[in-house]
Amino acid sequence: MPPRPLRIANRAGRLVLLGDGVALDVERASGGRFGPDPMDVWAAWADFRAWADDVSPADGEPFERADLGPCVPRPAAVYAIGLNYRDHAEEAGLDVPSTPMVFTKFPTCLAGPEADLPLTSNRVDWEAELVVVMGARARAVPETQALDRVAGYCVGQDISDRRLQFKDKPAQFSLGKSLRGFGPIGPAVTTLDALADPLDLAIGCTLEGEAVQKSRTREMIFNVPELVAFLSRHVDLEPGDLIFTGTPAGVGSVRTPRRYLTEGEQLETEIEGLGVLRNRCVPGGT
Ligand code: ZN
Repeated sequence: MPPRPLRIANRAGRLVLLGDGVALDVERASGGRFGPDPMDVWAAWADFRAWADDVSPADGEPFERADLGPCVPRPAAVYAIGLNYRDHAEEAGLDVPSTPMVFTKFPTCLAGPEADLPLTSNRVDWEAELVVVMGARARAVPETQALDRVAGYCVGQDISDRRLQFKDKPAQFSLGKSLRGFGPIGPAVTTLDALADPLDLAIGCTLEGEAVQKSRTREMIFNVPELVAFLSRHVDLEPGDLIFTGTPAGVGSVRTPRRYLTEGEQLETEIEGLGVLRNRCVPGGT
């Protein structure tokens, strides 16, 4: 039998498997074989998958979504890709890149699926993104084997303070996208076997219920196998590392008129088969 799909999450700092409305605590269910830290699972991914086949997340206990932290709270690296959807490159008035444009989000920006989003200026923008979670080391891995090194996907928001990002030249991509709370991810890491086609998922986000981004991940210029293969030619991807894979059209800073997040607004980000993030904009910057 193939392994069953898993949804791996962080409940109040502890590693859990999510079932329908319930969360199974992995340390307790495994009798201590796996520790409580949500980071420990990635280096032991193959063992964990084998163990998880024999447990039922349905045996877990009810949980509050507000208790979910970032499903991968402290990765060694968070890679992010700019201009990876043709329609977004066009709306930004920029050339479609011939190789992936790579920057980083510093890991301290990661936040949970219900976390408040502190607005550090009046130019904070949204970017709905598919996030790849590595399940094995990848060094010079060919595209045909790239998905084998991926543990799963989660939903992400590449929140960006456009004022900080663009006020100086050259632009400050990494800093302007790494402020506190600027990397909501979750609600769980979903394994790829839960998805009918891991390369074609509906993706989008809404502001106070109004759709502002709506696309499909098949519209990526460089798809997930291509991104993993490209990155792994240059760096060693490690288990638990994240890759934010770029955003489709519909961000606020290139709209006419421009539009940015305002206090009190709720940003909802959803990807087919992976779930939803609900982040409320709050005063920030201190
Ligand atoms: Zn982005």
